[in-house]
Amino acid sequence: MWHNRRMKVIQVKQVGGPEVMEAAELPMPRPKADEAVVKISASGVNFIDIYFREGRYKAALPFVPGQEGAGTVSEVGAEATSVKVGDRVAWTSVLGSYAEYAVVPAERLVPIPQGVSDAEAAAAMLQGMTAHYLSHDTYPLKKGETALIHAAAGGVGLLLVQMAHNIGARVIATVSTEEKAKLARGAGAGEVILYTQSDFEVETKRLTGGRGVDVVYDSVGKTTFDKGLNVLRPRGMMALFGGSSGAVPPFDPITLTQKGSLFLTRPSLGNYIATREELVARSGAVFGMMASGKLKLRIEHKYPLSEAQRAHRELEGRKTTGKLLLIP
Ligand code: NDP
Repeated sequence: MWHNRRMKVIQVKQVGGPEVMEAAELPMPRPKADEAVVKISASGVNFIDIYFREGRYKAALPFVPGQEGAGTVSEVGAEATSVKVGDRVAWTSVLGSYAEYAVVPAERLVPIPQGVSDAEAAAAMLQGMTAHYLSHDTYPLKKGETALIHAAAGGVGLLLVQMAHNIGARVIATVSTEEKAKLARGAGAGEVILYTQSDFEVETKRLTGGRGVDVVYDSVGKTTFDKGLNVLRPRGMMALFGGSSGAVPPFDPITLTQKGSLFLTRPSLGNYIATREELVARSGAVFGMMASGKLKLRIEHKYPLSEAQRAHRELEGRKTTGKLLLIP
């Protein structure tokens, strides 16, 4: 019987290290009226999954982690008229994608265009739309401007470097290893700083002749934030969008005055795809860049779903570049 069927998932029963992610079986999800069930072909691994697993971001326990996936619609609720069984779809920012099936509000699903595979769609949703909103909306980069992009060989990093480069901006990138430096250069970074070996503040000031950069896109947080403020031009923007090295401690706004009337924002993808229109437009823009060859994905590793622990260890251990996927 269909409704007695069970599916494989990864489950977190208590927050903690990678070991708290256990393989489990759950009943197949059923859609509410406005939802659809998707048979997942690929699920994206993102740093935010680590924050949820650790308890930095809260979810009711037990939960199935994962915020991104792509696959084929297998069942629709009575009012979910925007999709039908058999449609290829992708989504992000709905918890529960480390699984064989996910139940997703139909209005959060976007169609995957022809020419884009399920794996590519899963790889592009969260990190691609993040790179897009940062470079086009948070601080809309212009030709000739200069951006400092940290962790430039990471999932978001490689996409953000390409988008900034395509706009015609000068990109100064930071990475931890020579191998990552090559990737950042390949994506369009004009200059790359090994911030584990040299002081990126000194280097960035030197590279900009003391002027400073127009924007810092900082996902590293704790270890880079303070120095990042020092390399901004007056009235430049710090777009702090993550904390891979840890959270930035409490901060006195007067610092922004002292360092040159700076702007500070701490954006989140959710606020940039809040409406159906914006979700469809932004995902469409990213898929369009992929289809035209302007945006190249680097899917570094596809792990079986059962190896989610390994994927997390490698991601938080700074061992990865580009995108990691779980295949159920
Ligand atoms: P990445 O692939 O970028 O992995 C994280 C990278 O951060 C590492 O590879 C490493 O690069 C760098 N890093 C620097 N210090 C540390 C440290 N102490 N521990 C671990 N990594 C470190 O991951 P994602 O692309 O998935 O995410 C990047 C960041 O962007 C995360 O902070 C995430 O939370 C954030 N994010 C925010 C969004 C938003 O809307 N606000 C949406 C999507 C992502 P290196 O070795 O070169 O230093």
